[in-house]
Amino acid sequence: MRPARALIDLDALRHNYRLARRRHGSRALAVVKANAYGHGAVRCARALAGEADGFAVAFLEEALELRAGGIVGPILLLEGVFEAPELDAAATHGLWLVVHHEAQLRMLETTPLAAPVDVWLKINTGMNRAGFLPDAVEAAWRRLRACGKVGEIALMTHFARADEPQVITTAEQIARFDAATARLHGARSLANSGAILGWPQARRDWARPGILLYGASPLAAADDGLQPVMTLESAVMAVREIAPGEALGYGGRFVAERPTRVGLVALGYADGYPRTVPDGTPVSIDGAPARLIGRVSMDMLTVDLSALPGAGIGSRVELWGKEIAVNRVAQAAGTIAYELLCNVKRVRFEYC
Ligand code: PLP
Repeated sequence: MRPARALIDLDALRHNYRLARRRHGSRALAVVKANAYGHGAVRCARALAGEADGFAVAFLEEALELRAGGIVGPILLLEGVFEAPELDAAATHGLWLVVHHEAQLRMLETTPLAAPVDVWLKINTGMNRAGFLPDAVEAAWRRLRACGKVGEIALMTHFARADEPQVITTAEQIARFDAATARLHGARSLANSGAILGWPQARRDWARPGILLYGASPLAAADDGLQPVMTLESAVMAVREIAPGEALGYGGRFVAERPTRVGLVALGYADGYPRTVPDGTPVSIDGAPARLIGRVSMDMLTVDLSALPGAGIGSRVELWGKEIAVNRVAQAAGTIAYELLCNVKRVRFEYC
């Protein structure tokens, strides 16, 4: 059997959820959209079901997958709905809806519903991606109240730069949110992972932790007590020596300066490991630090075994996880841990 696999540590997931809740001092919706950032939405939600206050996904199909998987608690649709028929499904399945623009509000007003829905009204406090502008919030809130189809109305916003503790924009977003909602009733929710860890001023009734649940801090140099949840690993399947001056792999990017023992590893970019990483990207081989050399191929990649005489065929290679922080690989690849985790596919997923 091909040795490429993603090991998902569900105890670590629970640990991280508890940490988020403790740090924020409130209820927390576990964000399990995009297949729980690549970790398996139903398995992760089930692991948290005993203690999570609720879940958040992006859209209806993701929520229905959780319901079909036995998740009965609150589920918030962060994008809301796109078409009127989805509203009825959302109401029938007891889903909570973000309403973030006029068309969604009108859809709610004009669509007959079998049961009332709970709404999270989203306010654009500076990210300028989704949400009602502060001066339009009160009118939107009153229309929701008046339409007779809405149960609870919560108030939310989303931060653009909560992962940067020094910048002023998060404080400005909080101030705009407070001003826009001062006269409105409803639970409040501001904090994503960055704000949970770095912005105590953003504490309100609900947190919405995503990436931190999976053990990757969005803050630069943080020791947050988070535990990595996914370990992406495979094994050495062949070993060869290359001589000084010989090139390795596609494009001949890596050229040996000395005799080099190359390990061929069964995992490549089609499995979600980023092709863009340079020579020297850290890996761990049988628990020892080592480096990737040569271009990542579709199904394979190559590592330098020269300093590890004990390593050979069958040696375990960790690409990220407990020994190699996914953030280090993301940085080497010029992206963020979110993207790497979401992209893992084709490998065997094992839960423990
Ligand atoms: N809240 C909203 C509205 C989001 O869109 C997201 C993720 O994109 C989150 C919370 C979770 O963010 P993070 O993964 O940074 O914690």
